[in-house]
Amino acid sequence: KDNPVAGHKRVLLAAPRGYCAGVDRAVVAVEKALALYGAPVYVRKQIVHNVHVVAELEQRGAIFVNEVDEVPHGAHVVFSAHGVSPAVVNAAAERQLHAIDATCPLVTKVHREAVRFARDDFEILLIGHDGHEEVEGTAGEAPEHVTLVTSPEHADAIEVRDPDKVVWLSQTTLSVDETMETVRRLRERFPKLQDPPSDDICYATQNRQVAIKKVAADADLVIVVGSANSSNSVRLVEVALENGAKAAHRIDYANEMKQEWFDGVATVGVTSGASVPEVLVQEVLDTLGGAGYRDVERITTAEEDLMFSLPKELRRDLDGGV
Ligand code: SF4
Repeated sequence: KDNPVAGHKRVLLAAPRGYCAGVDRAVVAVEKALALYGAPVYVRKQIVHNVHVVAELEQRGAIFVNEVDEVPHGAHVVFSAHGVSPAVVNAAAERQLHAIDATCPLVTKVHREAVRFARDDFEILLIGHDGHEEVEGTAGEAPEHVTLVTSPEHADAIEVRDPDKVVWLSQTTLSVDETMETVRRLRERFPKLQDPPSDDICYATQNRQVAIKKVAADADLVIVVGSANSSNSVRLVEVALENGAKAAHRIDYANEMKQEWFDGVATVGVTSGASVPEVLVQEVLDTLGGAGYRDVERITTAEEDLMFSLPKELRRDLDGGV
């Protein structure tokens, strides 16, 4: 654990990092849709929040749109991994679009919880980031019943209809520690607050945070590969800083690393968000190697082997009957 030679340049590479099962499935869904139906295939919103992935799929014939009303009648449209509200599903049906739902099953699980608690007339305190697509989708399942809670401070200020009938749910890609603090403050105010039936923050988000905490404790600098709108990537920067890293930066590409970040830095921690292909991490490692950080040690805190089957619309068409 200790750096045996002071000043010896090394890299601590966090594992798990990068692609989660939900991202892998969503990206493969677009690739399969392109292969099955031919270009163009429309995708509502960024399929996953990574600029490289989106650019690559665009080159192969995917067209990213903001809303389904930009998709020609009758065309194929993929819903992104972050999920969609019933209003979007209905709008797509009205346009007679062939929708392929690449919503991560772990996001769908939260949608189901929202529907169920709304049916039982609970007020749902949804912890998440205002304007994030996942939050819009989940809240859209029960708009009358959902109150968004955006931070621990916000938890101190919100008002509820009936403090005896409140439950909290969350976005899947939040900081575990900050979310627990938000829940603690909510419970202080509303002691009868119910917990979700199971963790809403997904396994991938949790595992990547655990790994970077361990790395950060020994790192002078942490590099997080991930895009600016990737919630779980941005959280990794925060978690690194809160857990011992002297500095932490998020980059999309290796060439965004700046010389001055490395002044006096012996140990560089490296990780990547759940939407980041490994090739981008490899480029960072290559660049670091060129700067003398050749000694790479893997810090593994969990093994992941979860895989999701493809969206059912694709499975049906792959089985034969387009
Ligand atoms: Fe699913 Fe979690 Fe990956 Fe989001 S980060 S796509 S919820 S596994």
